[in-house]
Amino acid sequence: MSALFLGSVRPVPYSLTNFANQRFKLSFSGFPVSVPRNGLSFHHLFKRSFQASIHSVPLESTSNSLVTPPGEQSEIIFVGTGTSEGIPRVSCLTDPFKNCPVCKKAADPNSKNRRLNTSILIRYNGASGMRNILIDAGKFFYHSALRWFPTYGIRTLDAVIITHSHADAIGGLDDLRDWTNNVQPHIPIYVARRDFEVMKKTHYYLVDTSVVLEGAAVSELQFHIIQEEPFIVNDLKITPLPVWHGEGYRSLGFRFGNICYISDVSDIPDETYPLLEDCDLLIMDALKPERSTPTHFGLPRALDEVRKIQPKRTLFTGMMHLMDHEEINAQLSGLKDTEGLDVQLSYDGLRVPIDL
Ligand SMILES: [Zn+2]
Ligand SMILES: [Zn+2]
Repeated sequence: MSALFLGSVRPVPYSLTNFANQRFKLSFSGFPVSVPRNGLSFHHLFKRSFQASIHSVPLESTSNSLVTPPGEQSEIIFVGTGTSEGIPRVSCLTDPFKNCPVCKKAADPNSKNRRLNTSILIRYNGASGMRNILIDAGKFFYHSALRWFPTYGIRTLDAVIITHSHADAIGGLDDLRDWTNNVQPHIPIYVARRDFEVMKKTHYYLVDTSVVLEGAAVSELQFHIIQEEPFIVNDLKITPLPVWHGEGYRSLGFRFGNICYISDVSDIPDETYPLLEDCDLLIMDALKPERSTPTHFGLPRALDEVRKIQPKRTLFTGMMHLMDHEEINAQLSGLKDTEGLDVQLSYDGLRVPIDL
């Protein structure tokens, strides 16, 4: 149930004075607190303001006790639901001879066909308060966060869990610097050994921060190596769901509570099926309407897996530009009458309340 810890936090942010002042204002504005400024060092201010912000709850006036706001429902936020290249494809919009209806619709910022790299945020209201646990930070993470984090009031990132090391899952690690420079001192990141080995090459300066020049600021990540066995993140038990994502290439899905998330899959090994039993909500890869590809399920295969796994509800993710949100969802709705299957496509920004 444990994850191996690698790396350490660099202790003092370069501009601690500015950092502490800024955090003080941001953390306490709007809250009826009366922490005296006089007599507290910047270290104290930093420590107290950080504690308030990381738990997303107000700090009481005379003690450090933390209060969980009532009525805060755990939920999943779909940070991104599309393929690596994103939807719309630029090439579809610039081709004078092609009419791609999905990309055309997706050019509208409010379209449900507009999809960035596949990722979810678990907002988990556990014993220690509301925690924000991100699964994957791909190439477009900044754009997704820009769109949804202010909208949904998401400030801290309490952990990042990695499914695999393709660019649409880890390409945004560099952008986490905004959090570790301006919101919180570091972010724990949970990653399989094979993907950590990739990060040593693609993000060598985040793994070994001794190479970073004095005065330069990079994401402060605490790497935890995970095995294909359950581990705990912010009091939440996470069970890896090992799958194939192309021949011989392993990717991880994750189960938390009765929710199973498998974003990149071409085949499910026999030994993973028992981990998918009694699933309330399955979130699964469905790239395109017809055939599967060597690395992803197509819709027919994804539906076959739904019939086999028998979750109460399914939301597909990772759709490319051939998947029209309204059209496919209308077809999928028919399966409820014919087979009793509750299956729909997800979309960027979708929020689903969950019980954990
Ligand atoms: Zn297109
Ligand atoms: Zn991938």
